[in-house]
Amino acid sequence: PQPILDVHDLTVTFRTERGPVRAVDSLGFSVRRGQTLGIVGESGSGKSVTSLAVMGLHRGAEVTGSITLDGRQLTGLAERELGRLRGRRMAMIFQDPLSSLHPYYTVGEQIAEHHRVHFGSGRSAARRRAVDMLGEVGIPEPARRAGEYPHQFSGGMRQRVMIAMALACEPELLIADEPTTALDVTVQAQILDLIARLQEERGLAVIMITHDLGVVARVAHDVLVMYGGRAAEQAPVNDLFAAPAHPYTRGLLDSLPRLDDSDDEPLRAIPGSPPSLLTPTPGCAFAPRCARAAAAPADARGRCAEVRPQLTAEGGHVVACHLPLRPATTKTQPRGGTP
Ligand code: SF4
Ligand code: MG
Repeated sequence: PQPILDVHDLTVTFRTERGPVRAVDSLGFSVRRGQTLGIVGESGSGKSVTSLAVMGLHRGAEVTGSITLDGRQLTGLAERELGRLRGRRMAMIFQDPLSSLHPYYTVGEQIAEHHRVHFGSGRSAARRRAVDMLGEVGIPEPARRAGEYPHQFSGGMRQRVMIAMALACEPELLIADEPTTALDVTVQAQILDLIARLQEERGLAVIMITHDLGVVARVAHDVLVMYGGRAAEQAPVNDLFAAPAHPYTRGLLDSLPRLDDSDDEPLRAIPGSPPSLLTPTPGCAFAPRCARAAAAPADARGRCAEVRPQLTAEGGHVVACHLPLRPATTKTQPRGGTP
């Protein structure tokens, strides 16, 4: 499939009292129609800022580089134009639907209004559309529930309302920023399945932003792992899980709960904390936490601390690391021999 969104050399800088903060640095990626790009990282890795920049919602930040949606350059577009594209061609859902829903209007009114603004449809057509959408996202008795207020919905149902609103205008790109983080595991799975179903039916391109590689494993086709505002690793999802090349990705994978784990073994989180963007180091941002660098000979260790690793590609697998992990060579046993 063709990319619908292409991002090149995206850099987002905030001016703060304590100096400029480069929240996103020289990032590039693309998202294809009908596919999901998972963007993974800890808080402060730049993943949310990236999505806000794509949506043109990066208030007060300086954005350089290029963002093209279906061949159209978005960077430098006037707010009026961006406002038209938002909702109509790209939409976003967040962790907390309540922050995006108005408490004093019914959900049906809000979806209908959104549709009216972008399509210029009449009131009754917009209202019908709202009820249809609520049904499509799996809300039972949609005609009745359209007349209810956001607080009358459970967390999971509220996220369905947000998805209905986001998709009411049939955008080509949906950005979902931690859409299931606040939900319990069962509801989380239902929402992810819903997004996957809608994606298939509509050929939607999806950016799924998450700190959870379990979510990525479930929905993503391609993965971008971010660290300190930069790309650490990019790969098709199967390659990433089978053979992570960046020590940070490896650490994230090691801290995933496994089905075969003996019950009370604690998760191995990566020790240390995310880098300060105010005082970036000249070398690899992950160096202070990197066990691989710590175990390396002094000269290699020095390089990690002093020289920023550039992205290198092997096939579709891209990594920024001086000492990337290589897939373990699997020894194949001869078959059919006598035991
Ligand atoms: Fe670790 Fe060095 Fe690779 Fe950075 S460049 S992830 S510090 S091995
Ligand atoms: Mg975030």
